[in-house]
Amino acid sequence: AKDSGRGKYRYFRSQMAEPLAKRSRLEVDFRNALLRGEIEPYYQPLINLSTGNIEGYEILARWQHPELGMILPDVFVQIAEDTGTIGEMTLRLLRQACLDSDEWPHSHYLALNISPVQLRNRDLRADLCDVLKETGFEAHRLEIEVTENALIYDLETARLILWDLKIAGMTIALDDFGTGYSSLHHLRKLPIDKLKIDQSFIRTMSHSAKSRKIVNAVIALGSSMGLATTAEGVETEESALWLSQAGCTSAQGYYFGRPLPSSEAWLLDTTERQL
Ligand code: C2E
Ligand code: CA
Ligand code: CA
Ligand code: CA
Repeated sequence: AKDSGRGKYRYFRSQMAEPLAKRSRLEVDFRNALLRGEIEPYYQPLINLSTGNIEGYEILARWQHPELGMILPDVFVQIAEDTGTIGEMTLRLLRQACLDSDEWPHSHYLALNISPVQLRNRDLRADLCDVLKETGFEAHRLEIEVTENALIYDLETARLILWDLKIAGMTIALDDFGTGYSSLHHLRKLPIDKLKIDQSFIRTMSHSAKSRKIVNAVIALGSSMGLATTAEGVETEESALWLSQAGCTSAQGYYFGRPLPSSEAWLLDTTERQL
């Protein structure tokens, strides 16, 4: 009985210790990975729902770890924030994305995710504009995605920084809309161009009348304020059609295309799409 007890204890410990050990290994690896170019942009198409055509691509970070394989941003974005390398990661992704998309046969916009901590950095506009100048990518083709939770810490600084970006020609999208704390307050205070309706509403639309009502209300709110609306996480033809009929401006999700590396992403633009 004693032995089995100890065995259990050991089992429990290794279960506990493993994620921690893995996490600290990743933290050590991350900075070098960044410098070696292991963090690379994938691209997911955004579809204009009135034309059925691709209008832009969201840049989604991927870590190609030489031993552990592909690591998703849910794991390493936090590490980048904690280790103070998120700014550098963002600029590297943007630079690569500008170079990649320059090889594509069309010129859509690119949407870049910005972390909460970056909305406290007054150099953000200058840093982004340096990359745009270096690569020849026009500012009006760059959309900046910010999450609402990002804004509550220091709304005034966030407001100034977002205006900096807007004046430089970029557009601003409010990501995960509907899940934050003070959405409507943010809408009134900040220079927002687009609402990205959170996946949780879209995924439950087919069986939840409440979700459909909320989505309808957000689309109406957006349209009355002159804002574009994008539905995230569209996985079925049914929801794509419903959103299109409801007047949603654009959509993104596995139904239209998963995030892909540059060499495959642009090919999506050459395939016929029926809405
Ligand atoms: P997000 O900005 O809300 O991005 C959308 C996420 O939903 C992406 O996950 C995308 O792959 C996934 N997705 C898209 N369509 C569907 C669908 O139809 N079904 C389902 N189940 N999922 C779908 P991903 O790429 O794992 O990124 C997760 C989060 O990590 C992003 O959420 C964003 O908050 C963050 N992230 C990604 N790249 C960056 C980056 O470069 N910088 C920063 N700060 N955050 C990033
Ligand atoms: Ca996003
Ligand atoms: Ca989102
Ligand atoms: Ca998210």
